[in-house]
Formats: sequence, C-alpha cells, structure tokens
Amino acid sequence: MTKKRGILVGLLLIPVALIVGLWASPGFQFITGGALVNMGYRMQDHIHAFDLQHEHDLSPDEIWSELQRQNELSASVRDAFPRSAEHPLVALLVCMDARIDTNELVGDTRRYYYIVRTAGSALAEPEQEMLELAVINGVKVIVLTSHSDCAAEGAAADPELRERFPAVVSLVDQRETRIREFMARPIIREALDSGRLRIERARIDTLTDRLEPEPGPTPNAGS
Ligand SMILES: [Zn+2]
Repeated sequence: MTKKRGILVGLLLIPVALIVGLWASPGFQFITGGALVNMGYRMQDHIHAFDLQHEHDLSPDEIWSELQRQNELSASVRDAFPRSAEHPLVALLVCMDARIDTNELVGDTRRYYYIVRTAGSALAEPEQEMLELAVINGVKVIVLTSHSDCAAEGAAADPELRERFPAVVSLVDQRETRIREFMARPIIREALDSGRLRIERARIDTLTDRLEPEPGPTPNAGS
C-alpha cells in the first residue's frame, strides 16, 4: 500500500514538474504571455457597448472624457505593476493607420522597438533625424514599411485629393527619394558599410499585420 502510494505520488509529481519546468522557461513565458495578450485583444474587439465608434454619435467632449477615464484605469494598473525598461534594437517606420497594431506586427509586447508612425509612412526630415538618433543609441535594424489600402497612397492617386492634401501627397510621391536621402546621411552610410546596421523594407498586409516583401530596390544593396 505504501509502495503504491509512493508510485502514485511520483506519477502526480511528473506533470507538476513538467509544468514548473515549462513555466520557468523564457520561451514558454514569452509564448504564453503573447497568447494572454492576444486573448485580451479578442475579448475587447467585439465589445461595442461603450466604445468610440461613429454610430454612437458621441460628442467630442464625451469621447475625450471616455479616453481620459480609460487612460486613468490603464495608468493606475501600470503604476501598480511597473514594466521593465528594454533597450530598443529595432526601429520601425509605420503609417498611422489605426488598423495596424505594431505589437501584433512583431509578435512582442515588450519595448524592444522604436516605433515611428507617420501619415503614409512618410520619411520626412524630422523622422530621418530621429531614426539617426536611434542608430546612435544602438538600433541595429530599421524596417521601413508601407501598407496595403493606405489612405495616403489613395490620396496621392486621386487628382481631387492631391489638391486638397498637397503636403502628405508630396511626401508619398517622394518616398523613394527620401529613403535614398536617409541612407546617404553620413552616420547611416557608415553604420551600413561597417555592418552595424541593416535597413529592410516591407509592405504590411493591413488586415493581418503580416510583413510582405516591398517591391523596389533593396536598401542595403550597393552599400
Ligand atoms: Zn497608410
């Protein structure tokens, strides 16, 4: 009887040891954490009882109040459970389109990423300077993106909208020129030539956040 009980306890301990072992594994925690965050997205996505959608006919004041309330709730949680500070190694240039979620884009909720979001993924001079500063601070990979169904690209292709939004359309038109300009900056050129920096381009599938190859010249070529 005692021997049988010992075997039973031993058998019960095996799954416990496996769970504890898995839990201690950084890979397991990373995947489980991602799954839990994703579960949170799915739980919130379908709720429309108190959201900020147009059909609720909310006034700007009501929207701002709701945003403040939600921020207070979120900030108080973060205040209670501070997050660890990470040193970003990657910088992403991404359009401001709300459908793109950069956490889902990289499958990572930690802050290893500088995220530069602009209208139409435009790489104007201030963004070039900030990306250069990021490289000086240790960033090793820059991903310059565009995305499918981009409103700014749509405006650039529409004669009427081109007249109405000349500034953003001009930046979309100059995308290739701006990228070449950025890569010609001495610090960026030197980082590329020494192999300390890699620049990639990608087109985001807006519905899935999947990174697809961007048609066009490869930034690192000819360095
Ligand atoms: Zn866009």
